[in-house]
Amino acid sequence: MSLRTNEISLVFKAFSFAAEKHIGHRKRDQKSSPYINHPIKVADTLWNIGEVRDAITIISAILHDTLEHTDTTLRELGSNFGSEVSSVVKEVSDDMSLPEQLRKRLQIEHAPQLSERAKLIKLADKICNIHDKIHSPPKNWSLKKRKSYLDWTKEVVNNLQMKDSKLTLYYERLLKQGYEKLK
Ligand code: ZN
Repeated sequence: MSLRTNEISLVFKAFSFAAEKHIGHRKRDQKSSPYINHPIKVADTLWNIGEVRDAITIISAILHDTLEHTDTTLRELGSNFGSEVSSVVKEVSDDMSLPEQLRKRLQIEHAPQLSERAKLIKLADKICNIHDKIHSPPKNWSLKKRKSYLDWTKEVVNNLQMKDSKLTLYYERLLKQGYEKLK
């Protein structure tokens, strides 16, 4: 199965849109990589590791942090990419007006109610985030903080209640490697 031409057009449009919106943003990793590397990696993970071939999921993955981290509005996503994409992006976005600890708790609580598409993106996002915390953590993060980040993703992923797949097995392997490395 592959994408149709009009779907591929929207994938490229999403990359351009996200690149424009995240312009000037940096990740917190050691190299302060451009932020756009992250949504690219999440989409790549879904496509190449998860073998996800659903265009709405891939496009939403590329856009998944635009509501949270940029001035992008839901209406803007809807008019450019359609209401299915905008609703998936909304599902995977935290309410940034809430304090961090509450947002993290709500991610655990909301995980079981997410749509299948949103669950896939959440899982791929957590895979990319723990990869960074294991291999290229933010400069001031202690070992303890990195481990507790891994613990938190485990709670979110458990609550996604997904059946075994290439993506879930990949997450579990990476998590195990992470705990070994951070021992
Ligand atoms: Zn993300």
